[in-house]
Amino acid sequence: RFITIEGTEGVGKSTNIEFIEAFLKERGINLCLTREPGGTPLAEEIRELLLAPREETMCDDAEILLVFAARAQHINQVIRPKLEKGHWVLSDRFTDATFAYQGAGRGICWDRIQQLEAYVQGELRPNLTLLLDMPVELGMERAKLRSAPDRFEQEKQAFFEKVRQGYHHRMRAEPDRFALIDASQSLSNVQEQIAAALEKHLGL
Ligand code: C5P
Repeated sequence: RFITIEGTEGVGKSTNIEFIEAFLKERGINLCLTREPGGTPLAEEIRELLLAPREETMCDDAEILLVFAARAQHINQVIRPKLEKGHWVLSDRFTDATFAYQGAGRGICWDRIQQLEAYVQGELRPNLTLLLDMPVELGMERAKLRSAPDRFEQEKQAFFEKVRQGYHHRMRAEPDRFALIDASQSLSNVQEQIAAALEKHLGL
């Protein structure tokens, strides 16, 4: 099984990933935890390229092609081999993030992204996507409490509003694959929602 977790800045992905990892391991599941952009040494180098602030503006096409280059490597080296061995894979972000950030956020048309998705992934899609959702303003406040912002975290609220809408749009198109988690609730409530979604979608 292939599970992804998505959301805008500051929604609490990292904390909840630890919870999911413990939840699945308790049930004896062989879990591979990974992330995007990244997940292999080369893909992590591409992540550095994507996130580093620099004087030259990275054009939108260069950005999305780097995201998919990292993804191709990640799928080839980690995701497919693990799934073939019968392991479960939990990825912190995947292609829904590309539709949300580079599509809805930057304005790259979805047809184009779907072409890249088909090219790089073939039939590979997540079985379940947990979408951690909260008002953008609240998430940005929380993200500010962390270390120095990367290139994306320097974006304005309007950008993240578009990203959030992009995620919602993805969810409406494929409601069966998504579990919407209200991440503005207390941590214990959020974890109850996540546990319920894992039980319902994956028959745990
Ligand atoms: O998930 P994490 O916060 O570690 O992601 C790192 C950064 O990359 C974030 O600021 C996120 O907004 C950005 N990102 C992006 N496009 C993607 C995936 C991640 O802009 N497709």
